[in-house]
Amino acid sequence: MAQANSNGIDSRWSLHGMTALVTGGTKGIGYAIVEELAGLGATVHTCSRNEVQLNDCLSQWKMKGFDQVTGSVCDVVSKAQREELINKVSSLFHGKLNILINNVGTFKIKPAIESTTEDYSFIMSTNLESAYHFSQLAHPLLKASGAGNIIFMSSVAGVVSVGTATIYAATKGAMNQLAKNLACEWAKDNIRTNSVAPWFIRTPLTEPVRSLQKFPYDCVFKIF
Ligand code: NAP
Repeated sequence: MAQANSNGIDSRWSLHGMTALVTGGTKGIGYAIVEELAGLGATVHTCSRNEVQLNDCLSQWKMKGFDQVTGSVCDVVSKAQREELINKVSSLFHGKLNILINNVGTFKIKPAIESTTEDYSFIMSTNLESAYHFSQLAHPLLKASGAGNIIFMSSVAGVVSVGTATIYAATKGAMNQLAKNLACEWAKDNIRTNSVAPWFIRTPLTEPVRSLQKFPYDCVFKIF
């Protein structure tokens, strides 16, 4: 984890003067990203649905010296709340955003044949629609910064079959293709777009996977 002004990290990798929005920063991977960016000097805004947890995280970061982290309650499934969040970010960061991390994601461990239309809509809107819409809404801010970056939090499940969560896998595969297309479409606006594809990481999201008695791929358990 990056520490502000320690070990010479700042002198080699600095994000001082940069602004970032990290969706879903109160747990797991998003929490770690907020700390890393803040540790490198970026001014960070994050969001989650749970106000109590959000305020708790903001207090933790303040105690660690990351005073420049702020947050909003936002359910990324809601179009109106997505718009509200980007308006807030625009006003906080004076119309300029350097880094957008589309991190929020969820899954349901169900065979495809048992998945309902509600499961499909929920996973699609949480993982894919929100990431696309945030990128679209943030485009003017990213462009105005002169050096914009978008990261889509994809997954290994978006590249190969991991044997479960097929709808989740489809959203992650689509995010990879979204990243490639936006990278080409928005390069002229100095916006760099990438997706990253983690394998299993211990977070609240993967708790149910770890407690499964049977999982199609034994190797999953070996790395936990
Ligand atoms: P996590 O532990 O469940 O954390 C998710 C974060 O997103 C939390 O802060 C959560 O807060 C927030 N969130 C969830 N739904 C939201 C919504 N509708 N609106 C706003 N905030 C929401 O997940 P994670 O394991 O860190 O995963 C983060 C990303 O990495 C996901 O896109 C996931 O697919 C991807 N990924 C994870 C792994 C892994 O092994 N962990 C592997 C590959 C890819 P609230 O619930 O309070 O809203």
